Amino acid sequence: MSVSAEFLQALQDIVPVGAILTDFGSLERLSKDYYWYSPWLKEQLADKRADVVVQCTTEAQIVALLRLTYQHRVPITARGLGTGNYGQIVPLYGGVLLDLKPMNQILAFSNGGVIAEPGVKLSTIEQEGRQQGLELRMYPSTIGTASIGGFVAGGSGGIGSIAHGVLRDRGNLRALRLITAEAEPQILELRGPEIDQALHAYGTNGIITQVDMPLAPRVDWQQLAAGFGSWQAAHDFTWAVACATGIQKRMIAGLEQPIVAYEKPIAGYANPDLHTVLLLISPTDLPEAKLLVAEHGGEVTGEAPLYGKGSPTFSDATWNHTTLWAKKQDDALTYLQCGFTANRTGSLEQMQLLKTKFGDEFLLHSEMVRFQGNVQCWALPIIRYSTRERLQEMIDYCESIGVFVYNPHTYILEDGGHDAGNPVQLSFKHRTDPRGILNPGKMRLFQQPDLYGSPVLVE
Ligand SMILES: Cc1cc2nc3c(=O)[nH]c(=O)nc-3n(C[C@H](O)[C@H](O)[C@H](O)COP(=O)(O)OP(=O)(O)OC[C@H]3O[C@@H](n4cnc5c(N)ncnc54)[C@H](O)[C@@H]3O)c2cc1C
Repeated sequence: MSVSAEFLQALQDIVPVGAILTDFGSLERLSKDYYWYSPWLKEQLADKRADVVVQCTTEAQIVALLRLTYQHRVPITARGLGTGNYGQIVPLYGGVLLDLKPMNQILAFSNGGVIAEPGVKLSTIEQEGRQQGLELRMYPSTIGTASIGGFVAGGSGGIGSIAHGVLRDRGNLRALRLITAEAEPQILELRGPEIDQALHAYGTNGIITQVDMPLAPRVDWQQLAAGFGSWQAAHDFTWAVACATGIQKRMIAGLEQPIVAYEKPIAGYANPDLHTVLLLISPTDLPEAKLLVAEHGGEVTGEAPLYGKGSPTFSDATWNHTTLWAKKQDDALTYLQCGFTANRTGSLEQMQLLKTKFGDEFLLHSEMVRFQGNVQCWALPIIRYSTRERLQEMIDYCESIGVFVYNPHTYILEDGGHDAGNPVQLSFKHRTDPRGILNPGKMRLFQQPDLYGSPVLVE
């Protein structure tokens, strides 16, 4: 237990009693995300949970809560909607889980963007934005279940990233409002390069209370599924569409043939005997995209408008939803997150080496993105898990052939690859969280001071 009775009592001066949850069911349910994608994390995190969940709706409540947790050295971990994959919200040291789901107002659509509280669901922004002639520039495949605060603090990119890059690409966020965990918590507004300090930092250096995000003009996207007899043809096609600047697109995902049968959302639209590429294309450019399919020896196996009445949602079969469908078939399946050499032939050669080495233990799943201005092939291959050593062997082999691995089998920020030792985030944490109470244990480079209930308490 990392909170005292006195602490629990003091919470009642901050939020209504109904916003303080201590029953085991709520603690267990709200302390967990999709960490179980990883057999390794599943072992590590199963018994970790918060001591109390506190639901806040205002910045004033969060300021008071952070003041209290600072005074008592109680850990505090932010929760958006709990769809992260690496145990990001799992409180390693117990304490408070700050549930931001109820802080969910869209404050304004302004200057082509949205200003929103952290708990707003991404699908709400997409739907309301579309009524204003706008849409999200990028979203995770969990658009219907994830929050904007959680996306900024724990996600990276997704559908739309082939056009606009990822969250980290300059200009995809305009401002963040963030509260620090100091003796007297400060409200900061981060803009431009300052945003990097808190972006994808797992809430280890501040609680985000407002996001100002630019949107894109609305397009009435068409979904296309195309089947190919060989992986090389499918791969070449993904690159051809990705590099065709004249074809407006929102998504290009390549699935090696055995994966296609796992994917319920595209049943009836994809041919499970073929390698399949899933696309979101503007209606204007659909004919050209179909010509490209034919030029690469493929066939269109299904199409439907996105948001059409009764339409499927092809993106539910892409990004990390692919892993979800695979795991539903066979729990021994898990995944990696890879970045291939940024050209068509180099990435294909790496994929061929991986197939030669691992065969069906390693199934290819590519996602095309435009990152820092360049087309790149990212991938979330489905892999069969046997032992931790074998998993490490796969990671080591990827790295030996020049494939970058963003390791999803760790809850440590730096080990996941995105921010390997990001000095900006570390020095920001020294300033904003001197007692190390924000999501402790997730940032390796930060030397953790003692917490309430941890072995040594100094004061
Ligand atoms: C099936 C599936 C598919 C996915 N696909 C994608 C994908 O395509 N792209 C992608 O990027 N991710 C993907 N993810 C991961 C995840 O869904 C997204 O990153 C999502 O945006 C996280 O939002 P959330 O509200 O669930 O965040 P949470 O899981 O609640 O939180 C994520 C992290 O952010 C921190 N956090 C949350 N809110 C705040 C706040 N207000 N202030 C400070 N810190 C905060 C939390 O402490 C945690 O560390 C996928 C996950 C699943 C299960």
